[in-house]
Amino acid sequence: MPSASRSRPRERRVASPRRQPVGVPTAALDVPPEPAADCPLCARLVDLRRRSAAAEPAWFNGAVPSFGAADARLLIVGLAPGLKGANRTGRPFTGDYAGELLYATLLEFGFATGNYGAAPDDGLALRDCMISNAVRCVPPENKPTPDEIRTCRPFLVARMAALPRLAAILALGRVAHEQALAALGTRASGHPFAHGARHDLRPGLALYDSFHCSRYNTNTGRLTTPMFRAVFASIRRDLGPS
Ligand code: SF4
Repeated sequence: MPSASRSRPRERRVASPRRQPVGVPTAALDVPPEPAADCPLCARLVDLRRRSAAAEPAWFNGAVPSFGAADARLLIVGLAPGLKGANRTGRPFTGDYAGELLYATLLEFGFATGNYGAAPDDGLALRDCMISNAVRCVPPENKPTPDEIRTCRPFLVARMAALPRLAAILALGRVAHEQALAALGTRASGHPFAHGARHDLRPGLALYDSFHCSRYNTNTGRLTTPMFRAVFASIRRDLGPS
């Protein structure tokens, strides 16, 4: 099992915004893009973090920070940390099944360099890409409540606002899709979630949808590797080289 630490993953390089990216609201700019690891705002999730810390004190057991390049054009938004994945390792999509497909695909399409070793110290770096989550703390059964999703939203708003070159958002699953739209102040009714869809939200900013790369979705065939690769091929084609 990879070692875990509460220290921030190495690739987390967060810079002050140089300019406001296209179409990102300013309302939450007094909120930092990354919550404190011991963020107290969601009682149910705080309770789960504490129980997890009591059972597994070597795990990260906190609000998992975003991972990637501060000048990224692509922001990937997942659902929430997995209990034995990011909640354990402290890096999004690291240490559980979903990360295997995600990082392999990022490497294939030039959004990452190095090798994915399922641990924050594996040396993998993201290029022109950042990974975050709609909800930063592990929820029971992987199901955050609407209140928890809403409470965590300002951090995503701030995360987007701190990416001065943001041009593409990839939502992994419906919750991430709706959270991203809400963070941008865009009505979801005009942009229904659909795997493979591209939503041109405004000039210079597009939202892409994919089914979440979870073990359940891949085991059931809801999401295949070619389907996932096609989404990244579309993003790469639209963004051009890093
Ligand atoms: S889910 Fe977000 S708002 Fe809720 S406790 Fe965690 S970091 Fe704070």
